[in-house]
Amino acid sequence: MSTAVAEAKAEYLRALPGDDVRQILWRFADRFDLQLLVQSVRAVARGPVARLVAAGARNTHEWTPEKDSLLKAFDESGVTGVFMEPAQGGFIEGPKNLALALTAFELAWVDAGAATGSLAGCLALSPIHERGTPEQRDYYMARCAPDPANPDHKPWRGAFCLTEPIPYVGVETGLLGGKVRIADWPEGGEPVLHVEKRGRFITNSGFANFVTAAVESDDPRIKGTCMVILEEADPGVFDRGTPTRKLVHQLSSTRDPIFNLKVPASRIVGGYSIVDGVIVPKYSHGEIIEAVFRRTRVTVAIMTSAKLLSAIEPVIRYHRSRFRGGTIASPGSPRYELGLQLKEDAVHRLVDVWAAGEASASLGFAAARVFDQLDPLERALPAGAFRGKSRRQVEKEAIAFLHGQRPELSEDPVIQYAILDSVANVLCPACKLWNTGHGAQMMREAVSLMGGYGITEDCPGFLGHKWMDAQLEATYEGPEAVQRRQLSVTMTSELFLAQFRDWIRDMRSIANERPGTGACALASAMQMWLWTLQHLLKTTDADGQKLYQGARQGVTFPLADALCWLLASRSQILDLLELEKQGPANPALAEALPGLVAFFTDLCHVETARAAGEVGRICSSLVFGYNRHPAWDTEGCAACYQSQDLEAMESLIPGIASVARGYADVIEADGSHPLKAGPCVRFAGLDQFARLRVRLDGCLTGSGLAHDRAAEALTKVMIPEALDYPA
Ligand SMILES: Cc1cc2nc3c(=O)[nH]c(=O)nc-3n(C[C@H](O)[C@H](O)[C@H](O)COP(=O)(O)OP(=O)(O)OC[C@H]3O[C@@H](n4cnc5c(N)ncnc54)[C@H](O)[C@@H]3O)c2cc1C
Repeated sequence: MSTAVAEAKAEYLRALPGDDVRQILWRFADRFDLQLLVQSVRAVARGPVARLVAAGARNTHEWTPEKDSLLKAFDESGVTGVFMEPAQGGFIEGPKNLALALTAFELAWVDAGAATGSLAGCLALSPIHERGTPEQRDYYMARCAPDPANPDHKPWRGAFCLTEPIPYVGVETGLLGGKVRIADWPEGGEPVLHVEKRGRFITNSGFANFVTAAVESDDPRIKGTCMVILEEADPGVFDRGTPTRKLVHQLSSTRDPIFNLKVPASRIVGGYSIVDGVIVPKYSHGEIIEAVFRRTRVTVAIMTSAKLLSAIEPVIRYHRSRFRGGTIASPGSPRYELGLQLKEDAVHRLVDVWAAGEASASLGFAAARVFDQLDPLERALPAGAFRGKSRRQVEKEAIAFLHGQRPELSEDPVIQYAILDSVANVLCPACKLWNTGHGAQMMREAVSLMGGYGITEDCPGFLGHKWMDAQLEATYEGPEAVQRRQLSVTMTSELFLAQFRDWIRDMRSIANERPGTGACALASAMQMWLWTLQHLLKTTDADGQKLYQGARQGVTFPLADALCWLLASRSQILDLLELEKQGPANPALAEALPGLVAFFTDLCHVETARAAGEVGRICSSLVFGYNRHPAWDTEGCAACYQSQDLEAMESLIPGIASVARGYADVIEADGSHPLKAGPCVRFAGLDQFARLRVRLDGCLTGSGLAHDRAAEALTKVMIPEALDYPA
């Protein structure tokens, strides 16, 4: 064990982690532009946004003037401009995924509807940003950028319109009901398109000046599908539709709009060519939304992380003050000072919420950083991306590079892009799925720790609202099934798995150096996951049906879930190591660092134990669940008991040994019976898995003690007198 961690064990967490800590953990300690952005967004979140929520603005789904005033606050604080390039009126150079993630985090700390409202504008621009023509980019970015020098300038707002009324687009994005036809094609001139599109649940509809809409050709002179840009002044119908009667995210505007408009063909996102008299859009709607969502889903994931972490302070305050003021506790007494924190379960559960919040933030920000690295690589990709090589060939070379066999490929943009892309393709759906899905469940835990208060509008930190809102984050931009479906494909990429094997080796080394982090349990769980994936890929079920295949969501989806637990814990441990490494360089942290490191180490251990438990449960049920037990038809289940310690079982459940022995006698008499070989695992040929499972359970050693220590730290940590935003 490193000395730093050993010494830190004696220390407790002094105060809740502040910006200094977050900047190191999430790697923006050297980015002053992002630090300023965080401060600026925080002022809006804990000011105007919090005041609106406290004043009950969430009680209506109408877009009120009060809610509308937030847009101006976003413009003035820089929230609106985060997405744009400096030349377009923005202020952040280079890739902006981390910047957008931090923006979402700060806003969702108070209200994720506000975060969604601001980010939906970026979502509307994203198709143009990712795949638009240079002219489209310049035109729309310039219109949407606020102009601080000109207070009368009203930036344009946008909406992204993919989802359609049932039975069309939802999870299945290919079922397009929106249509595009040629209304007019003057000789030698630009075609005019007739676009009919109805939207369902479209954010920003209440005020959008333009919409990026997905449509399908209904004309033999247009090929396939595309996205088109619609403007409110276009001739025809631009009907904002009825407001969605939402239960959540009330600080954003959501409606079911109807569009029936004539627009020039130059509004096709990315442009088009004309081949044999047919308009061929450069990008299908599918290609565009893939490029868009893989980035924007990360920011959604971060919203739920913010909620979990924002719950810690209000819950601690509520617990500590729960028994003050009565006659039963006098100042200075444990009951007065600690209140509900005297009850182990209350603090243990809050530790679980905190650990999940840290892990999910670590995963989400890690994903945002990967996209920041990926963006310039993507833009630098030579035309015809893989230069005539098949994806398989590129994967092969990239794996050879990772194995140290082709060092010269370190400068090859295609190979470097492919390596990072395979990770991004996993991290994005993983954080969207786990942060929001598991996050929504953990938000319920946080709410429950506030008792009845938790489900009232008065709950400090708006925890009840946040719990409900988390379910929307799990749903929009593709519900959990979409993320699981994507993961079940991307996580089997050999290039990703080659890196995953490296990660297991790294985690083993970390376990040697920092056993207190739970890295050992994590490495064992990662190994078990990999073993299970490989087993399922080559095995059939008891009826001879292939186990790992697209249609078999009962197999692929749980395995995708299991991977998310591993990735989240891994990110959390890597962030802790960063804090330990970089923390000493910050004099403001010097005194508090040992306590912080000790506490974060325990949180990692708590989370890895939970992750290992989940992974063990999921893998076992997949590995065993699709076998048929050979004894059931002949001997029944109790036959398995013959291999167990009957005396120990008898002391626990009197009479059980004789039941089991009865079967054992039958088996003894029949020398050929497979149960003679031992427990179920033997005859299923799964003893290797069973050994992994036993090892994994052993790796949980000490995790309960870490839980205790973290819980104790919660009883000692200093918190401010009052929350810094209104209740
Ligand atoms: C407040 C709000 C704001 C929104 N904002 C926007 C916006 O700005 N722009 C926009 O385009 N859309 C927006 N949406 C729509 C949102 O993205 C969709 O609701 C979401 O993608 C799910 O589509 P659906 O509701 O049609 O669910 P469905 O397609 O009906 O699916 C319902 C459920 O069925 C299951 N399921 C469906 N398909 C599969 C499958 N293949 N495999 C396994 N299970 C499956 C899943 O459990 C899924 O959650 C918003 C929605 C809300 C509620």
